[in-house]
Amino acid sequence: MHCPFCNHEELKVTDSRNATEQNAVRRRRECLSCLRRFTTFETVDLTIQVKKRDGRYEDFQQDKLIRGLDAACRHTRTSHEQVRTLAYQITADLMERQVREISTTELGEIVMVHLRNLDMIAYIRFACVYRRFKNVDELVNAIQEITPKDEEKTYAHDKI
Ligand SMILES: [Zn+2]
Repeated sequence: MHCPFCNHEELKVTDSRNATEQNAVRRRRECLSCLRRFTTFETVDLTIQVKKRDGRYEDFQQDKLIRGLDAACRHTRTSHEQVRTLAYQITADLMERQVREISTTELGEIVMVHLRNLDMIAYIRFACVYRRFKNVDELVNAIQEITPKDEEKTYAHDKI
């Protein structure tokens, strides 16, 4: 860390205490060159942990979510821009709810709720991968969950 005033590297910590919010540690520092004082906050970077089906964890990666969505939306009317917007929206929602850990299944369900409103074909494709349908009946059930309102929307969409 460098002094924000003179860019000098040697700093002295004069006081350390826990800040009340977000596991932060607040430190008073003094620059050994210009003698100015300033405060820093150190926080733990709480990356969302995704629990995979095999029980292992990996860091939540927005890029990976975008790739999955892109694959589901390929050759549909949903653009890459819309996919990115959706991925940002899902990520922001997880952050806002302060989610620390989520299973791939839960994440998949969240994505499907969004896809249902955006693109029915993408929704069904995504559902096929995430719900790992064992037979055609399960797939048909998932399709039947689609409300008539959504069907109308898809129909109108296809007419354009
Ligand atoms: Zn300084």
